[in-house]
This record gives sequence, structure tokens and C-alpha cells, in this order.
Amino acid sequence: MAREDQAILSMSTNERLEFVSSSTKQNQTWYAVEFRVMEKGEAGPREGTQYDLTQGCPRCGTGSRQLSPLLLRKSDLPANRPIAQTLDHDLLLRDDLANSILEATGTGAHLWPVLERKTRQPLPWWQLYPQYTFPKADEATRGLVTKRQCAECHRDGHFSDRNHPDLSFVYRLPKVQVETLPHVCATWECFGWSNLIEDPPDAVPRRVLRFARPCIIVSETVGRVLREASTKVVLYPVRFIT
Ligand SMILES: [Zn+2]
Repeated sequence: MAREDQAILSMSTNERLEFVSSSTKQNQTWYAVEFRVMEKGEAGPREGTQYDLTQGCPRCGTGSRQLSPLLLRKSDLPANRPIAQTLDHDLLLRDDLANSILEATGTGAHLWPVLERKTRQPLPWWQLYPQYTFPKADEATRGLVTKRQCAECHRDGHFSDRNHPDLSFVYRLPKVQVETLPHVCATWECFGWSNLIEDPPDAVPRRVLRFARPCIIVSETVGRVLREASTKVVLYPVRFIT
């Protein structure tokens, strides 16, 4: 998740989280996820990853759906850590951690392959891929600031608020809908900036330099596995108003 600056905030909330054992999504807590590790590696449209621009903002590209596995340089992945994030804040899991999440959730629908950019060979890494995008967060949401947003969609240009480190997304959703959410979701709000390049009018496809990425929101089941795997995983509880 993009921050307004690179300051590492002291964060104790996560240390206090206690998880309950549950194999269903009833009464689960949902969490916005941050991987507090150094961003490394370009993996977006410039590296060949395919996106459907027709679903994104026509001006900036925010909201374009990823269509292909993420393409990344092998050398950009860490040798001794189970989590990673790209410069665009795609969240990546090493094979063993991805397997743990597969076992805990019983599905791999939210795990997408990561391929080596040049050879297109699978790397032992997986991308946390959201299956659902939340509606716009309620105005009671705290911990976000906006800056230089796209004038058309106002969807990119979100950043964590360094003056309010306890990020708290709030949604108005009925309980029955919350219980049927997939394990890995995305916020409507996207972090950082998108940059759709203006091609000549007849150019197909249009090019995009960079996409703002959503914040990933996960079920308690996924959150528990991530936290057990790395102390660099920070979870911010999501609040639902029904
Ligand atoms: Zn836009």
C-alpha cells in the first residue's frame, strides 16, 4: 500500500490481534493488509502483464482488471522471506505460504501465478488476487488521505495518513453479504497514481505506464496464515455497519 512518505510508522495494533479458529466466514473479522517490506520490481503493463482497459477509467486507467499472470524479474524476488511486494504494491506469496493459504481456505481462486518476465516460466511465487471489489468506503473510514487524484474517477491518489496510522475501512454491507465475501477482496480506492499514456486516437491497444493498486482486504482465515508466516504483515480490522 502506498504511503504518503516512506516513514516507517510504529504499529502496535497488529501485535494485539487475536484470532479465533474458524473454517467458515461466519463471524470472521476482515482485515486490510499491508506488507511492510521494501517494494521491489516493476510488474505492471510495462513488463507485459495484460490488463482490460475497458473496465478502467478512460482517463487514467484505474480499475482496469488484470487478465494475465503477473510478469516479474526473478531477481526482484527475495531469497529468504515468504512475502514480497512489487513497486506497484502487488502482494506476493512464496510457494510454501501460498500452499498454507490454499489449505486453510480450500481454494486457490485468489492465488495467481507469477511468471518470469523474459522466459514466461512459473516462479515459486503467487500473487494475492482479489475476487471482489468493495463499493466506495463509507465516510466513517479513517486513515486515508487523497492527493492529486484523477479528475474523472477520483479513484487513484489515495495514501495512508501518517497522522492516523490505524487505518480503518468502514463499509455499509448487510451481514449476509459479508459472510459470502471471497477470502481476498480489494478496496474501490486505489493507492498511488495511475498514468494512462495518451496514444494517437487510432492506436490499439492504448498503453498504460502504471496503475494505482487497491488495498487488499482478506478474511480472518487468510489474515491468520499471513500473520503466522511473517511479522512484516500488518492487518487493519475492517468495520462493517449493517
Ligand atoms: Zn481516472
